[in-house]
Amino acid sequence: MKEKMRLIVMGPQGVGKGVQSEELARIYGIPHISTGDIFRKNIAEKTDLGKRVSSYIEKGELVPDEVTSAMVFERLSQPDAQKGWILDGYPRNAKQSADLDEWLQKNGEELSSVILLDADGDVIAQRIQKRIREEGRSDDKPEAIAERLAIYARETKPLTDYYLQKGLLKKINAEGDVEQVTEAIQEAIGN
Ligand code: AMP
Repeated sequence: MKEKMRLIVMGPQGVGKGVQSEELARIYGIPHISTGDIFRKNIAEKTDLGKRVSSYIEKGELVPDEVTSAMVFERLSQPDAQKGWILDGYPRNAKQSADLDEWLQKNGEELSSVILLDADGDVIAQRIQKRIREEGRSDDKPEAIAERLAIYARETKPLTDYYLQKGLLKKINAEGDVEQVTEAIQEAIGN
């Protein structure tokens, strides 16, 4: 590995962010930090955070920014994140992206790359159907899926322009099989 990797993996629900982030985490030996996974774990364990966020997640709405950003920064300050990290599902709007910029600056860190996974709507719909069958996520109900798609289009996708202007965005065709997509990412980030 040439440099300390600090990656953001972006893309619509169902495109394969979790699977690819997991692969990259294994390859580079750095933590995969998925805000959705952390929230779900807290809900399952009935922690105070879990109780606070469950109604947003059930509806497919965003958890308030201050709760989410504080949780992410707490995680990024853990010992295992000192050698790098992969953020999956964060930032999701302009406020969170500004929060992250501020945190990076304060901590003297820089993003390595922002990976945008891209696939045709049909492919994504099929992957969501597969996830519904295999994982049984309680927020994979039609209304919550529709809400997440709307929020992605309105609040998250515009962030790709911001990272493009910063020269960090790497758009990857995510329609191939898992291995092909991982290879394309590795090639794009030059590691
Ligand atoms: P995900 O597993 O990334 O699809 O996230 C599942 C749910 O967790 C989302 O629909 C939101 O309710 C919540 N969530 C995850 N990441 C964020 C975030 N960055 N900001 C706000 N809410 C989030």
